[in-house]
Amino acid sequence: MTAPIDPGARQAILDAVAALEGEAVETLLRLTRCPSTLGNELSALNEMARIYEGLGLAPRRVPVVPDALRDHPGFSPPLIGYEGRDNVVAEYTPREGGGRSLCLQGHVDVVPEGAADMWETPPYAPAIRNGRVYGRGAGDMKAGIVSYCMAFKALRLAGLAPAGPVQMASVIEEECTGNGALAAMLALPRPDAVIIPEPGPGYAALYTAEVGVVWA
Ligand SMILES: [Zn+2]
Repeated sequence: MTAPIDPGARQAILDAVAALEGEAVETLLRLTRCPSTLGNELSALNEMARIYEGLGLAPRRVPVVPDALRDHPGFSPPLIGYEGRDNVVAEYTPREGGGRSLCLQGHVDVVPEGAADMWETPPYAPAIRNGRVYGRGAGDMKAGIVSYCMAFKALRLAGLAPAGPVQMASVIEEECTGNGALAAMLALPRPDAVIIPEPGPGYAALYTAEVGVVWA
């Protein structure tokens, strides 16, 4: 069981989150401008490195090396080469330890844009309409990535800090092999928990399981 959050700290966090709204939207627009379809993830990965640096963390690149992953049950046969597509991770280490560790993970790859004439605004020129950001990958799942980054930043802004290690991982190939997540996972210490802020059907809930995928 976790102790209930101190009401003063809770309010400070909520205030910090509200103060970061503009920055969150700007960051999401920047990230959505990166056309990070399969094989073209570099601009988004570079953007993530900048975002992690902005959080005061030191990002590092984690390449996908098929020969090093081949015997892992999570490995999938590569579709294309991995040059220039290194995952980006960053780690926060608390000054005083003791807290449980958490990994915040998200994929930067997006599915193809589809037919151009079905977009009201271009897929990589994100636009805000009725309080939502429209652009390829804005929802799946760049908004989730920005959300966890802003959550971390809000804690710091509120004068608080995580009591345990926090890992952040921006990975490639969620929309196909999963090899990016596998490489990043193996490059980091095993955390106590992982949160993947992937969009779902809209319930205010955390999911503890996910359907699998079979490629045939
Ligand atoms: Zn997704």
